[in-house]
Amino acid sequence: MEGIEKYRKAGKIAVEVRKFGEPLVRPGIRVLDIADKIEKKIMELGGKPAFPVNISSNDNAAHDTADINDTRVIGEGDVVKLDFGVHVDGYIVDTAATICLNKDFSDMHKVSQLALEEALKLFRPGGTIKEVSEVIEKTIREGGFNPISNLTGHGLERYDLHARMEVPNVKTNIDYTLKEGDVFSVEPFVTNGGGYVIEGASALIYGYEHDGRIRLREGTKILEMAKTKFDALPFAGRWLAGSIPTIKLKIALNQLSQIGALHSYAVLRERENGIVVQSEHSVIVGDKPEILTL
Ligand code: MN
Ligand code: MN
Repeated sequence: MEGIEKYRKAGKIAVEVRKFGEPLVRPGIRVLDIADKIEKKIMELGGKPAFPVNISSNDNAAHDTADINDTRVIGEGDVVKLDFGVHVDGYIVDTAATICLNKDFSDMHKVSQLALEEALKLFRPGGTIKEVSEVIEKTIREGGFNPISNLTGHGLERYDLHARMEVPNVKTNIDYTLKEGDVFSVEPFVTNGGGYVIEGASALIYGYEHDGRIRLREGTKILEMAKTKFDALPFAGRWLAGSIPTIKLKIALNQLSQIGALHSYAVLRERENGIVVQSEHSVIVGDKPEILTL
């Protein structure tokens, strides 16, 4: 299989980084410090971040990360999802862990881990996405919680974070038969809310869509960096803070999003403000599924 050693290298880095990152999530610690340290660690170990590290707490499910000069700190009793990707020469792995600082949500956390474990066993040639989703949903509901129906796992391809097919956390009509060597990320999101996320007002993560011009000449520079430095994978505004003054950067990011040259990923929040937990691994389909991030 093409790139398999690079996938494995990215996986090994991700495991190291997760071990390094989890103990950093403690009350009073700045989200910005955690994000910086984790992304630096990925690079020290010979990988690149496939997207900005997501640090999403409580009813925020995903797509939160540190802003430029972000002053937010981890709170007592927060339920924190640490979700990051590592790539080696474009071969991406994606993994997430939940740090439950409030033990009241430990059971929910265990249910997400169990759903992930059960799902990963099914990544054999000839299996189907439909069966995977069914097992995830069943495991979560039997555990007494709700799966988030509009957050999914996804196929992974070289330099493509959302390739091939989604892996929903509820049964759908997706008709896809798994093939030897397919790579997928699987990520059960579990909540005590209704199980549906909506977009919040803020966006801190962007992705390159196409070239475009805005009045500010910084726009061209941002698009150039998005393509070359960030490999057209998602990036954070703070990654550009050293290159462009903050005010201009924020205006340019907004305008580029408005004209569609950038996609902005809004922070996703559970609609009923339910607490959300997540577990995620990346896996290669095979007779014995190879979990890259375990
Ligand atoms: Mn992820
Ligand atoms: Mn993912």
